[in-house]
Amino acid sequence: MSNCLFCKIRDGQIPAKVVYRDDVCLGFEDINPQAPTHVLFIPLKHIATVNDIAMEDRELVGHLYTAAARLARERGHADKGYRLVMNCNEDAGQTVFHLHLHLVAGRPMGWPPG
Ligand code: 5GP
Ligand code: ZN
Repeated sequence: MSNCLFCKIRDGQIPAKVVYRDDVCLGFEDINPQAPTHVLFIPLKHIATVNDIAMEDRELVGHLYTAAARLARERGHADKGYRLVMNCNEDAGQTVFHLHLHLVAGRPMGWPPG
């Protein structure tokens, strides 16, 4: 997608602090972190929202979770815990329409979300 912010980050056209990369996904620091750790994991493939995940993308979505959990463990968050969030569309507050998994960690978090 030529006009997608996260495709541009994937392609190096917009800078980001990349903390994880493999052949399926990319992890980079959120520009407006909501906790000591706030990393976004995106598939290299452009998928706009959770609504657009196809059956063929099942492994890819699992891959995002595995990568996020690995980084959470490396940063020492595994035992205390962390939150993984994918916002879908307006009511959930999605603002960038390239699928992304938020890894938020390093402080206690409330539930339910606002
Ligand atoms: P959403 O609200 O769509 O679930 O999350 C989008 C996230 O992308 C937000 O947490 C926001 O801070 C982050 N974000 C927006 N623009 C940029 C950017 O240019 N660079 C980075 N690293 N993060 C961004
Ligand atoms: Zn994109």
